[in-house]
Amino acid sequence: MLEAAIGRGARLFEAEAVAFDAAGRMVNVRLGNDREIEARSVILATGYVMPDIVQSSVHAVSSSWAIATVPQPDSVWNHGTLIWEDAKDYLYARTTRAGRIIIGGEDSAEIVEPEARDRLISEKSGILARRLAALWPTAKTDIEFRWAGTFGTTHDGLPLVGPVPGAEGIYAAYGYGGNGITFSFLAARLIGDLIAGRTSPLLRDFAIDRDDSMAGR
Ligand SMILES: Cc1cc2nc3c(=O)[nH]c(=O)nc-3n(C[C@H](O)[C@H](O)[C@H](O)COP(=O)(O)OP(=O)(O)OC[C@H]3O[C@@H](n4cnc5c(N)ncnc54)[C@H](O)[C@@H]3O)c2cc1C
Repeated sequence: MLEAAIGRGARLFEAEAVAFDAAGRMVNVRLGNDREIEARSVILATGYVMPDIVQSSVHAVSSSWAIATVPQPDSVWNHGTLIWEDAKDYLYARTTRAGRIIIGGEDSAEIVEPEARDRLISEKSGILARRLAALWPTAKTDIEFRWAGTFGTTHDGLPLVGPVPGAEGIYAAYGYGGNGITFSFLAARLIGDLIAGRTSPLLRDFAIDRDDSMAGR
């Protein structure tokens, strides 16, 4: 994707963005290597770590654990169906092209520091394998891969997409929860449109400064 962007004229800088200044005519981004980038519009998409200029009362951070089993017999379940438990502590499972089952969940909003999160990979993997055995007794539950990650989520389940209040020219895309694939695509469209001068009613529901009382309106 980056190569495609560069092919269309994008320039790529590898560095950590450490400060943002929107007080002038242009937005100024200071980098960890002491260089600065000036731009008319800046889009923040830094995952679960939001810079201080983005304040949200609905944002929260959560860790999630997942395993991939050894390849299963061909007919473990039909047509690559995705299983998603519609429960508060959800569990999801799907098959891969190589015939493995990926099963994940066991989320925690308390254990988000990478080291503490990764220390739990072994224990959480065992729990996920046992939950797979209960869900699908004919599945082989031998684990071949195990991992964990952290992501930003929101109390109302909608992402945070739009202008950053009080910082003209800065836009943000955060809080995708478990729907990063869908919401990131939507965020790209919405913010691209905003910069081009178009708007959308969705932006009210996704506003960075909405609060809990707006959930479920
Ligand atoms: C185990 C797990 C399973 C998941 N499964 C699914 C799924 O099945 N379907 C789905 O839709 N979503 C899923 N998600 C959620 C999805 O991964 C996230 O919503 C998505 O990755 C968020 O994308 P992002 O681009 O906003 O952030 P990220 O993918 O976190 O990328 C942010 C990037 O910004 C960089 N960065 C951070 N701070 C700075 C800085 N100051 N300067 C420069 N760079 C910076 C980071 O290094 C990182 O590369 C899952 C998440 C986890 C953890």
